[in-house]
Amino acid sequence: MQKEWRFDTAAVHVGHQPDRATRAVSQPVVPAVAYAFPDAETAAAVVAGQMDGTYYGRYGNPTTRSLEEKIAYMERGEDAIGLSSGMAAISSVLLAFLQHGDHVVVTKDIYGGTYNFITQMGPRFGIQHDFADCCSVKALEAAIRPNTKAIYVETPSNPLLTVLDLRGIAAVAKSRGIPLIVDNTFMTPYLQRPLELGADVVVHSATKYLNGHGDVVAGFVVGTSQVIDFIRKRISGDLGQNLNAWEAFLILRGLKTLGLRVRTHCENARQVAEFLQSHPRVRALHYPGLPSHPQHELAKLQMDGMGGIVSFEVEGGIQEAQTFMNALKLAMISFSLGDPETLVQHPATMTHFSVPKNERLRFGITDGLIRLSVGLEDPSDIIADLRQALESLAGLITGGETTALTGQ
Ligand code: PLP
Repeated sequence: MQKEWRFDTAAVHVGHQPDRATRAVSQPVVPAVAYAFPDAETAAAVVAGQMDGTYYGRYGNPTTRSLEEKIAYMERGEDAIGLSSGMAAISSVLLAFLQHGDHVVVTKDIYGGTYNFITQMGPRFGIQHDFADCCSVKALEAAIRPNTKAIYVETPSNPLLTVLDLRGIAAVAKSRGIPLIVDNTFMTPYLQRPLELGADVVVHSATKYLNGHGDVVAGFVVGTSQVIDFIRKRISGDLGQNLNAWEAFLILRGLKTLGLRVRTHCENARQVAEFLQSHPRVRALHYPGLPSHPQHELAKLQMDGMGGIVSFEVEGGIQEAQTFMNALKLAMISFSLGDPETLVQHPATMTHFSVPKNERLRFGITDGLIRLSVGLEDPSDIIADLRQALESLAGLITGGETTALTGQ
């Protein structure tokens, strides 16, 4: 593997050689479940892990393997495993580090599915948790218990784009001998490489920017060979969370343009954030690229770009947020992010619906909050769409006061 390749070159070439049999340039898709061994001894050695090789689809696949090598390279990890969803990656890594009686410290605003896993599934298996505001190293330290076996963070967070100091958190984790797990979905390795900043494990929802075309659900865990082997053999292999060859192929194809796409997402999001910043119907704006963002300086140090997500609050509450979203003509109301299309969602009633209201408000996810995944369309079209949708709120709001439609 060429360790000196720049990102865009690696995105095209790493993990891939022209097919030996056909000389095909594009990655061949190997759908086989089982692989024939030359003899019984080789079969035994591969299964025992004494020899490299693929033996059964639930534990690995050659097409998926090329992708895993590419992702490991991009994230600067020893190894990676591709799984059937971002939640498969998150659940398998948490189950790898935590068992009955263990405790995990989790940063306060995280993806709703991760919140569900930690608060609903975790306790069923005797796994305890505490949410801490990981913006403060003191709050993080105070949440650590003698049985804390993992620290789990997302930065920038979903949906508020809180930026956490990964170097600072990693130093605390190292001093206590606790592994630090980072969800790097919003950034991709193009913009942020948590392992270089001291994290132990990276997880991804590849459903988002890594695949980038809205047609695959997938996830990755990146870490040491020991951690990845354990997940492959003891967790995801047994739970059946493998990523199939066809979806791996689609992600390999999507990854070739990751740098190109992310650069455009970042530039479009910057223009959108600058437009929203000065709009009278916008109450709060969360975008790490603006000097008004509380962790703007940290973001500039830690991230190679500000990403494609912008969150903001419209004046009012749920009804105003929904009126705004219904008025959009280009942006689509949708759960996902990182696609070519501009996608908009309302965390209080969509991605974070299952978070109890008091918790949600405590995390800062208000009724008027909207998350925008800025797409690859021409930025002036995206901005024109947002402008006309914000104007639709004018009838609901008079002189800065909300009318009877004030959200609950
Ligand atoms: N992590 C983040 C930050 C997400 O936004 C999501 C999904 O939206 C996930 C993880 C879960 O990924 P998936 O839907 O691929 O399971």
